[in-house]
This record gives sequence, structure tokens and C-alpha cells, in this order.
Amino acid sequence: FLPHLIASLEQVDQTYIMVKPDGVQRGLVGEIISRFEKKGFKLTGLKLFQCSKELAEEHYKDLKGKSFFPKLIDYITSGPVVCMAWEGVGVVASARKLIGATDPLQAEPGTIRGDLAVQTGRNIVHGSDSPENGKREIGLWFNEAELCQWNPAQAPWLRE
Ligand code: GDP
Ligand code: MG
Repeated sequence: FLPHLIASLEQVDQTYIMVKPDGVQRGLVGEIISRFEKKGFKLTGLKLFQCSKELAEEHYKDLKGKSFFPKLIDYITSGPVVCMAWEGVGVVASARKLIGATDPLQAEPGTIRGDLAVQTGRNIVHGSDSPENGKREIGLWFNEAELCQWNPAQAPWLRE
């Protein structure tokens, strides 16, 4: 009883994951979704989307002023992206680990970037860096009607 009570008090976080245009062009959408799906997180939003310059700039507003910012905006708006919202206990930090380091040459083998990419400017996937940014970014890329609350049948087989 007590462990269940403690478990139910555990914070469920949300993260915004995005397959960038290079990931879509290279046919890696299924592979990338699969990594999060197999891990056991819950998908609550998913769409293919061509984003505007304004949205890309808002998403990456903390990087405004960096020398690579204009290139980054061109990259992210260069073709459709796949937007995803994922939910789970510890999902933000865990997704960052699954994604790997920003520079794919530094990313560990076994991570998405470590296995599938070679350069920072083409690092195929985005993941929120904090629970606060997870919420912020999901709010930026999705409207309420595009997000689904559901109970995965596997839930009792994932967490005691
Ligand atoms: P992330 O959280 O691992 O994605 O990394 P950051 O938040 O630091 O940067 C956001 C994104 O900007 C990265 O994923 C890259 O796509 C891009 N970026 C970061 N640093 C550089 C850089 O030095 N050069 C280029 N071309 N792009 C960069
Ligand atoms: Mg970041």
C-alpha cells in the first residue's frame, strides 16, 4: 500500500521531442519514435508539421544572439518536422540520455545521435532540457485538441 502511495505521488513529466528536417529526409522517423516507444514512455501527441520562422525563433529563443542562430532557424524550417509529446516519470532527463550529446561525434554509441548522426548542425532530433521547458515547448507546438490522454494497456508491466 505505502509503495503504491509513494509511486502515485511521483512527478509525471512531459517532454517535447522533435525529429528535425534531416531526420525526416533521411527516413529516420520510425526509428526515432521507436526508441522512446520501446523505452516505455507514453506518447500523448504526434504530427508532421512545417513550422514557420516565427515558431522556430520562439522555440530556440534562448539561443538568439549565438553565431549559428540564423543557420539553426534555416535548418529547422527547411522541411517538415515530426512533433511529439511524451509523458512519464523522469521522461525529460531520460529522453536527453536516449538522444545523446548535442555533438553527435561526442554522443555515446547506443544513443540516437551517437548511432545515427555525425554533426551538430544536423543532429536529427530535439529534446526539452527541463520539465518547465517540456511544458513550454509542448504548449508552443501543439494545441490542446492535438494532445490525447489515454491509459496504455502495458502500464502495470512497466511500473510496479
Ligand atoms: P541540444 O539541447 O542538445 O539540442 O543543444 P542546444 O540547446 O545547445 O542547441 C540547440 C540546437 O542548436 C542543437 O541541437 C543544434 O541543432 C544547434 N546548435 C547548437 N550548437 C551549434 C553549433 O555550434 N553550430 C551549429 N550549426 N548548430 C548548433
Ligand atoms: Mg537545448
